[in-house]
Amino acid sequence: MGKVIAVANQKGGVGKTTTSVSLSAALAEKGKKVLLVDCDPQGNATSGFGINKQELELSIYDIIIDEWEISDIILPTEYKIDIAPSQIGLAGAEIELASLEDREYRLQKAISKVKDNYDYIIIDCPPSLGFLTLNSLAAADSVLIPLQCEFYALEGLSQLLNTIEMIKSKINVNLYIEGVVLTMYDSRTNLSQQVEAEVRNHIGDRVYNTTIPRNVRLSEAPSYGCPIFAYDPSSKGAQAYMDLAQEVINNG
Ligand code: ADP
Ligand code: MG
Repeated sequence: MGKVIAVANQKGGVGKTTTSVSLSAALAEKGKKVLLVDCDPQGNATSGFGINKQELELSIYDIIIDEWEISDIILPTEYKIDIAPSQIGLAGAEIELASLEDREYRLQKAISKVKDNYDYIIIDCPPSLGFLTLNSLAAADSVLIPLQCEFYALEGLSQLLNTIEMIKSKINVNLYIEGVVLTMYDSRTNLSQQVEAEVRNHIGDRVYNTTIPRNVRLSEAPSYGCPIFAYDPSSKGAQAYMDLAQEVINNG
């Protein structure tokens, strides 16, 4: 049975999508069977795999709102990964879900049907704590939190950890924290070092040893519609995500 990992943080621009795409691709490079579920209406993970969002006939919206089967929307990619794509119409689901039955559990229901087909199912969450993120966390076994090394990092992390506790008590009792990964780390700055020290001091046992460096190749890859391993496999960013994937595998 595949493990479902939601990549979540209510802040935008912290590296959720980059981590979802690169970790999925790294797990696939290591021979794992991976499904990437794009749960963000922005659809950046979808286009990050070279899929033209305008040409999609079906997306995550159709399985959450209209109860299509997830197998109807899953697309293979050139990169040994399957993707359940998203497009901007998914934004409407935030509003429509509010009045639907089982509104927190629709994605879980859909994903449970394909769990056996994969080793890992990675969900890229939107930058909010709305219904799409709740659906993702209800569907997940664990949550992986990308944390950008910036001044307010620890404050945002405490809020997120409180929210996860709330979700555990109300929506998904088995949810646990897969780990926190420090992103856009710049070892030349004191700030990155300070944030790392504080976060490790605070919740050290849950922070990955691997930190993701600020690496321009990681930000360039999406514009070529391919993951970092197809764009520049020898880059520092590629190496870091391979190391992270190994830690995720080792943690079981
Ligand atoms: P989120 O999904 O949390 O909004 P993204 O993964 O889209 O965040 O990252 C925000 C921006 O930062 C994007 O332009 C992305 O290319 C860039 N970025 C993410 N991680 C890195 C990194 N390690 N080094 C350099 N740029 C990065
Ligand atoms: Mg994103």
